[in-house]
Amino acid sequence: MNIYRLASQMVLLLLVPFVLHAQQEPVDLQMVQKIKHEGLQNSGIRDISFYLTDVVGPRLSGSSGLERAYVWTSQQMEEWGLFNVEVVPWGEFGAGWDNEKFYISMTEPYYQHLIGVPRAWTRGTDGRISGAPVLVNIQTEEDFEKYRGQLRGKIVVTPVSSEPSLSLNPTGHRYGDEDLENLARLPEVRSPNYGNVVSGPSDFAARRAFNSRLMAFYEDEGVAAILRGSGTFGTVRSGGSRLAAGAEPPVAQVDLTFEHYGRIVRLLEAGIDVSVDLEIKNRFLTEDTKGYNVMAEIPGTDRNLRDEVVLIGGHLDSWHAGTGGNDNAAGVAVMMEVMRILKALDVQPRRTIRIGLWGAEEQGLFGSRGYVSEHYYDRETGKKPDYDKLSAYFNVDNGSGKIRGIWLMGNDEARPIFEALLEPFHDMGATTVTLRNTGSTDHVAFNSAGLPGFNMLQDRLDYGRGYHTNMDTFERMELGDMMQAAVVVASLVYHVAMRDERIPRKVFNP
Ligand SMILES: [Zn+2]
Repeated sequence: MNIYRLASQMVLLLLVPFVLHAQQEPVDLQMVQKIKHEGLQNSGIRDISFYLTDVVGPRLSGSSGLERAYVWTSQQMEEWGLFNVEVVPWGEFGAGWDNEKFYISMTEPYYQHLIGVPRAWTRGTDGRISGAPVLVNIQTEEDFEKYRGQLRGKIVVTPVSSEPSLSLNPTGHRYGDEDLENLARLPEVRSPNYGNVVSGPSDFAARRAFNSRLMAFYEDEGVAAILRGSGTFGTVRSGGSRLAAGAEPPVAQVDLTFEHYGRIVRLLEAGIDVSVDLEIKNRFLTEDTKGYNVMAEIPGTDRNLRDEVVLIGGHLDSWHAGTGGNDNAAGVAVMMEVMRILKALDVQPRRTIRIGLWGAEEQGLFGSRGYVSEHYYDRETGKKPDYDKLSAYFNVDNGSGKIRGIWLMGNDEARPIFEALLEPFHDMGATTVTLRNTGSTDHVAFNSAGLPGFNMLQDRLDYGRGYHTNMDTFERMELGDMMQAAVVVASLVYHVAMRDERIPRKVFNP
């Protein structure tokens, strides 16, 4: 042995303790193989997706559609043999609303069927009404006087601030290698949130106040209905504002696809006579004004760890114009399929694996926030006894695209764990562990209580074009991508449920 060789061996010896110090995250490759087989050969994704969208239908918060979804999802999970299947109230939602009949057309200067959707929680029209719509443009305080006393019984057409413009971007998108490499690096900004969580626009409150003043004006003037433009290429982006139980619902309102709305506006601006026929029948559901989450689980088997929980979920509610295919039947179907796969394999996880199908995400994450404050952390009273029993929460709500990785929400300590657990799925496209934040869905409810809540990083596909619209249906759901997603998430949660330790938490400063 020459001296150089000896020296290099000594260097190696010095290095060894450091290498061993970074403990290897155990991965059960036999279980990975079983999960892949069950998820890819016996997939339940198509059935679940079909039932959630076509059979159950739209799942607006508080509607009878969402009630059908509670029944179907809980029965299905019972059938699979999951435990403690429950439909649990998260709190007070407000009035329920079903649209029972809707017709709109333009009859002058010629007949044209119009594509539209009534806004949720607005009144009906008391039978068929017809008339010449009035273009009303109220932007400032002075504008109110121009219209005072002139709008009784009228169908009002409101202008919009931005019209659709030509997009040269493709409608569908998958992450390329470069995109994923970028995501895996932090952007060069100085921000405790890594620059990703955007705070609300400063004029938001002012605009809101002006809007409610405007609605009160229309109400006082006694207008019959309001038409707006929302959505393009024949889609209608639906919406509406939640209504407290017992509150008076606002005047009838219809969102129209821009191509039809724009035609009416241009004809009116040119002084050409227009007439519209409109009928809306809505039902307000006031018997039960609570909101619910659907819960189910596979109990843990380790005496010391079975009280701890690995929680997965997605929101069950949707908007009412379509059947909420991408938003979020896709996430619900993937997470239900995760539970089906794990149950079919009869896994014996050390920790309990629980699923939560949340209500009223679209109105402000109410279902998941309600669950967090009931079980883990209440803003007023602080930590609950179960606060230390949650290992992690995993969420899917970015459409039906395959899993490309996971958003860490700034949780550095979780990085090596998820890197190891995603490794067997690199060949299926799940490669990227990004420290960055992503917002706007139920994992935020956990993060804001200091709990490790993660959203899966997904290919966006054509999510942006269809979500919240009348065309967010079964057709938007990429079933093959969802099968991949279920397999990746099933393996991830299984391994998290089997580890010796919980997923590490970030420092929490309430
Ligand atoms: Zn959603």
